[in-house]
Amino acid sequence: MTAESLAASYVAPGADYAATASEAYQAALRVIESVEPRVADATRKELADQRDSLKLIASENYASPAVLLTMGTWFSDKYAEGTVGHRFYAACQNVDTVEALAAEHARELFGAQYAYAQPHSGIDANLVAYWAILAAKVEAPGLADLGAKHVNDLSEADWESLRGKLGNQRLLGMSLDTGGHLTHGFRPNISGKMFHQRQYGTDPQTGLLDYDAVAAAAREFKPLVLVAGYSAYPRRVNFAKMREIADEVGAVLFVDMAHFAGLVAGKVFTGDEDPVPHADIVTTTTHKSLRGPRGGLVLATEEYAPFVDKGCPMVLGGPLSHVMAAKAVALAEARQAEFGVYAQRIADNAKALADGFLKRGATLVTGGTDNHIVLLDVTSFGLTGRQAESALLDSGVVTNRNAVPADANGAWYTSGIRFGTPALTSRGFGADDFDRVAELVVEVLSNTQPEGSSKAKYTIADGVAARVHAAASELLAANPLYPGLQL
Ligand code: PLP
Repeated sequence: MTAESLAASYVAPGADYAATASEAYQAALRVIESVEPRVADATRKELADQRDSLKLIASENYASPAVLLTMGTWFSDKYAEGTVGHRFYAACQNVDTVEALAAEHARELFGAQYAYAQPHSGIDANLVAYWAILAAKVEAPGLADLGAKHVNDLSEADWESLRGKLGNQRLLGMSLDTGGHLTHGFRPNISGKMFHQRQYGTDPQTGLLDYDAVAAAAREFKPLVLVAGYSAYPRRVNFAKMREIADEVGAVLFVDMAHFAGLVAGKVFTGDEDPVPHADIVTTTTHKSLRGPRGGLVLATEEYAPFVDKGCPMVLGGPLSHVMAAKAVALAEARQAEFGVYAQRIADNAKALADGFLKRGATLVTGGTDNHIVLLDVTSFGLTGRQAESALLDSGVVTNRNAVPADANGAWYTSGIRFGTPALTSRGFGADDFDRVAELVVEVLSNTQPEGSSKAKYTIADGVAARVHAAASELLAANPLYPGLQL
């Protein structure tokens, strides 16, 4: 790693740090081995595999040893239903400490009025947010109209009528094929069953969000919830415009920043591109570009705070206290100045990857990127996403297939490959490395042929996979994962 990449990455803890982390993991693995050696073995293998793969999955990252070690403690054993200072269980004082710290770091980092650190995952965070909105906008006024304070005070008939209203609200979110997430109103997901839902897409010519079209859909549909945010859209979103649209139709603006929270935390997305000052509720995962433990967070304005705070028992069980502790550590890391350098490099590297593809004649959805995602349309190579994903995996390049707008191959085989830069940027990869990655990917795809009419089978020209794998291993060796960490 160069000095520059070291400065931009947490994997620069110095020799002592690496030695201490090595000791900790070696001891932990000896303990695990004494009970179930196959788990210890798989744990060692997982590190070896992660060290030797070119991980370009946009939703993955590498958390720091401090974050990982925080998860392996006795906090895991503690039940703490309720919220800070207000638990249904006794002896939660230390859980209170870590949950309050995670929330404080999140508020400070994102400039939010309120933060809730309990959701176990991104999906859980979204469920908490949806139900907080329903509680604030439907249940609370419904109770007031009926002159009641609590749902338990209602007659059977009144409760049934209120339940009917809760289950009959409208949500407008981004469609799955244009980059939205399953939880933004997709029918097979509970969000598409809870809400009467409709979707907005992107401009068919440019692939870009068309705010006038979103506004027109909102005017016609009049949703209670307008959802912004994405899993596979390679561009920034103007949240001030989404706010204007929400205000015009009286909708609640809910932003799911699961993918790009690291770019918000690192102040790459500011002003209109920062969702926090514009949205009523913002959710995120903590394990993608934010580089924390697997989990979720909800940020909210004071208006929604009391409703989000009831996430447990509303939709969550006991919080994962060990993970909340790790969220506090990760958010403390993200408040360091170095995290801003890291976040900027994520975006610069995505641009280098996109430019590397474009100069080699590849087709990108929206023609490029200005976030951490690059979406390659692989139909120009004559392949489905499934074939391209498998051929790349054979060559040591880990990606995931993804639908492109109006995908002719459907959501299973797809026509795209989604690339993301957060993980390799954590290893210290820079722009030149990403240009080389583009070269390797193009080499694999241009030497891969579909087999007959199959959407899954393919053949790679002799020697290509081995050659690319060797080149990928060279890049990886120059940018080691957890340098100095020995098991
Ligand atoms: N929201 C978005 C935008 C996502 O991309 C994802 C995960 O891919 C989620 C929510 C769900 O996160 P989790 O897998 O932690 O439930």
